[in-house]
Amino acid sequence: MYSDCIFCKIAQGEVSSEIEYEDGEIKAFKDIRPSAPVHILVIPKEHVESIAYLQENHSDMIAKLIYRAKQIAAEKGLKGYKLVFNVGREGGQVIDHLHLHLLGGWGREDNPDEYRV
Ligand code: 5GP
Ligand code: ZN
Repeated sequence: MYSDCIFCKIAQGEVSSEIEYEDGEIKAFKDIRPSAPVHILVIPKEHVESIAYLQENHSDMIAKLIYRAKQIAAEKGLKGYKLVFNVGREGGQVIDHLHLHLLGGWGREDNPDEYRV
């Protein structure tokens, strides 16, 4: 727990969020400034700054983040979606606590080029 980290505070429930899922290791909550109709962040409760700081023993945690995002997407009936890790400032990362973006809900099967990264 890093006292100056907003996502550590969200993980501990010290800052409120719209929770989608929580267990002992992971929390998922709605992004406060959504970039898609469905925009959920999945985070480990452990403070890891980014993918760039991953250690080998984090592989299980990363798999759980991805699995949880997939489960939430399925529960919400998303047929397609994006899973994104921004890494570092040059990669668009603003919050230095690892988080997986789940983005979807556009409902545009006909023209995926419109929102392809
Ligand atoms: P990044 O650019 O670091 O990959 O993404 C950080 C995301 O966290 C952004 O999409 C931003 O809207 C979201 N965010 C920042 N502060 C808060 C907050 O206090 N609560 C929630 N729910 N989302 C936040
Ligand atoms: Zn943190």
